[in-house]
Amino acid sequence: MKILVLNAGSSSHKSCLFDLTSRSSTDAAPIPVWRAALDWTHQADMVELVAKTDTGDSVKEVLPITDKAKGIAAMVQTLVQGPTQVLDDLSDIAVVGHRVVHGGRDYQAPVIVDADVKAAISSLIPLAPAHNPANLQGIEAMATIFEAVPQVAMFDTAFHACMPDAASTYPGPYDWIDQGIRRYGFHGISHQYVAERAADLVGQDIATLKILTCHLGNGCSLAAVRHGYSVDTTMGFTPLDGLMMGSRSGSVDPGILIHLMEQQHYTADQLSTLLNKESGLKGISGLSNDMRLVVEAMEQGNYQAKLAVDMFIHRLRREMGAMVASLGGLDVVVFTAGIGENSPLVWQRACEPFEFLGLKLISDNDLSQAAGDQDIAAADSAVRVLVIHTQEEWAIAQACISLLQPTP
Ligand code: AMP
Repeated sequence: MKILVLNAGSSSHKSCLFDLTSRSSTDAAPIPVWRAALDWTHQADMVELVAKTDTGDSVKEVLPITDKAKGIAAMVQTLVQGPTQVLDDLSDIAVVGHRVVHGGRDYQAPVIVDADVKAAISSLIPLAPAHNPANLQGIEAMATIFEAVPQVAMFDTAFHACMPDAASTYPGPYDWIDQGIRRYGFHGISHQYVAERAADLVGQDIATLKILTCHLGNGCSLAAVRHGYSVDTTMGFTPLDGLMMGSRSGSVDPGILIHLMEQQHYTADQLSTLLNKESGLKGISGLSNDMRLVVEAMEQGNYQAKLAVDMFIHRLRREMGAMVASLGGLDVVVFTAGIGENSPLVWQRACEPFEFLGLKLISDNDLSQAAGDQDIAAADSAVRVLVIHTQEEWAIAQACISLLQPTP
């Protein structure tokens, strides 16, 4: 079975092809045989297309295309022609899977896309104005190319859709519930994938485990996964809530926004830019949203960089503690995404306050050698601590398999 996965954003499109034809088992994540990306920010009125195969062949070109659907069509063509050709014919593809950011309350699992699903994604545009239109456009573009080939939507909110009301409701007026103003949570595909992988790695049924998943990339969020279900998460109505992030503030006192509007006449657009693009590690360090650069500056004695790292850790620990309370215990902590998969400094400093629970990490030296999915807790730790490479595309491909080949 050949599965094409598309992650369509407003300024970039990422796609990959899984070829499961010769696979006997679907347990481990396979390497995609082809990957491609479109970058719409590269140059005005142009798109940069990059494609490469698992054998190292690649193509990189800048095309005079402004229409997103045409860009997607050009990207898909690299599957069947040029140096990155991996298919004889596009009809070899059995299914196209999509990451869709917002599925509202109604979508708690992946679905085969039909007219109702498209209408639902469209109706949720006010809740995800930057993402759902791009996701829908990706679905329409693929429908034009692949016509009758089934398409599957996996929602980033779905894993959190079953959170208890007490966790998902904001303490504003009761009317907010009817208006859809509630905590939806995001990064759900990643939180679910790493929680399930964690259960596999520790060799226990997920239905018995209390897992705290920490997705720490440019966007950061935590999820409290009790017995396989998300019972709490740090992102909320939008991905702006919760932890301090690369350039997003995370939670701040909403009174600050009222103050800025009243005293400095900020508009909604200006506040959005301030909180989404000029805050977090970037806003405090004044340097970058990239943790590597901020840590480097901190090590060279830069005060703002040190404050940014200290704040990132402080807020991370505080929210981890909140998730432990929501879980009512802790069996496994998982670190994933760019920072979570690569930063011994963050593992150490984030875990330190939880030593009172019997959590102990391996030695500093062993931490610095850590690579790939692995357990970084000491043998006698009461809590396992895992570093897991998140594989959202593979999770979407697996959803396609289950929907097309349901197990009896
Ligand atoms: P992601 O959004 O998952 O691609 O993560 C991107 C972020 O991961 C970057 O902005 C970096 O801050 C961070 N990152 C990547 N590699 C490292 C590393 N070795 N140490 C610390 N942070 C890293």
